[in-house]
Amino acid sequence: MYIVMVASECAPVAKVGGLGDVVFGLGRELEIRGNAVEIILPKYDCMRYDHIYGLQVVYENLQVPWFNYHIPCTVWFGFVHGRKCFFIEPHSADNFFNRGTYYGFADEHMRFAFFSKAALEFMLKSNKRPDIIHTHDWQSALVPVLLYEIYANLGMDRTRVCHTFHNFKHQGIAGENVLWFTGLGRPDYYFHRDRMGDDFNPSAINFSKGAVVYSNFVTTVSPRHAWEVRHGEWGYGLGHALHVHQGKFGGVLNGLDYEMWNPESDPHIPAHFNAETLEEKYKNKQALRERLWLRQEFKPLISYVGRLDTQKGIHLIRHALFYAINNGAQFVLLGSSPEQGINEQFWHLKHTLNDNPDCHLEIGFNEELSRLIYAGSDMMVVPSLFEPCGLTQMIALRYGAVPIVRSVGGLADTVFDWHYGEVPEEQRNGFVFHQPDTTGLESAMSRAIGLWSHYPEEFRQVVLNGMGCDYSWNHPGQDYLNIYEYIRCK
Ligand code: ADP
Repeated sequence: MYIVMVASECAPVAKVGGLGDVVFGLGRELEIRGNAVEIILPKYDCMRYDHIYGLQVVYENLQVPWFNYHIPCTVWFGFVHGRKCFFIEPHSADNFFNRGTYYGFADEHMRFAFFSKAALEFMLKSNKRPDIIHTHDWQSALVPVLLYEIYANLGMDRTRVCHTFHNFKHQGIAGENVLWFTGLGRPDYYFHRDRMGDDFNPSAINFSKGAVVYSNFVTTVSPRHAWEVRHGEWGYGLGHALHVHQGKFGGVLNGLDYEMWNPESDPHIPAHFNAETLEEKYKNKQALRERLWLRQEFKPLISYVGRLDTQKGIHLIRHALFYAINNGAQFVLLGSSPEQGINEQFWHLKHTLNDNPDCHLEIGFNEELSRLIYAGSDMMVVPSLFEPCGLTQMIALRYGAVPIVRSVGGLADTVFDWHYGEVPEEQRNGFVFHQPDTTGLESAMSRAIGLWSHYPEEFRQVVLNGMGCDYSWNHPGQDYLNIYEYIRCK
């Protein structure tokens, strides 16, 4: 099959979170299985250009219709660790993608509406007629709408769309102007609640609603989350639309790219290891402590790596830090937030704890350091309030760090409690708590610290069970191919 992914991120060249990992990892898996895969991305100025091989212009002066004029674009091509990527560079005073950071601007919906339009225009003009376009999150959610309403009539009528929601919290809410700029027009038609009209704001269109209505298939990134968004609050208002379209909606657990995330070959960790050479992991713990000025003492090391977003349970992350250092453990945090207030809160905490030899906070994004943390930690906490899938716990499992997680979304689908798991003993790979409060967190952390301290052999077994899990792209890759095959125009 010929598959084109349209996305706002692709690891490691443009990555903010798990979305980037998925676009890269799924793309690779689909290629390994013999499909032709291309990825279309914006050309951000802040990308990691050192990860692009052979960057060159492949389409000059692509005229993208925009309101009653055109924006000229240059389209670039390059390989990102083997993936074929196209980068769209618009030339206009809007300066959509040259802003030093990926997200967080007042005209966000315009930036990505333009990107979606330009991606389709590029496919049309360069005679690309994929079997499947796979779009991701609200940033490319207008693609299925534009394809069905405009581009199908221009010759792209055999292309089908699969849309994946990585996070329902951000949906792309905009006013009428987006319709005029993208050429869709007809507000009365699109504002209808059966199309793109937002269920809660009658004067807004909702890009994500459009993706639910217009895509041939819609997925989210774990079976548990697929249930949660339809039945609970985590659909952020899209539950009804998903219910109406339930026949084409399902959850596919994300995979982890086992080649990119491999403790046997990771270039950023000093000691490589696997389940047979687990002792080597300890050298990474020592290296991590040295790098972060933590004391070398007989204590478990617990970490958090991730965005500092309310979704991630900020108050629980903070609590985990204090609980760890007050209960005979060490704690490392690596994270950042686009919200200045949250960052400042953690900078303040960092200054307060500056002289504590048992904890370290690193505020920022650092992929290389994150790898050393996964490899050097005994446990990782993921106390999310909601978590569509979560890759942190999967990486932790692969790197022999035992996850301590809240039972929600993809965390519930991948981590099974050592003491109270409902699965066979050999599948129990972590510690789980249910209520998003400090009591729940403490009970799981104390069981984990207790096992590490008093029953090292048992703890080792939890580690080995985790390392034995297969959360690679092998199964989800096939699941997505089945979906593509099902919706494909035959
Ligand atoms: P989300 O997509 O909600 O951000 P996931 O758990 O699905 O969460 O994916 C997070 C990914 O981003 C993981 O690969 C994690 O290691 C990485 N990551 C998050 N924050 C940082 C950071 N500050 N530095 C390095 N890597 C990070």
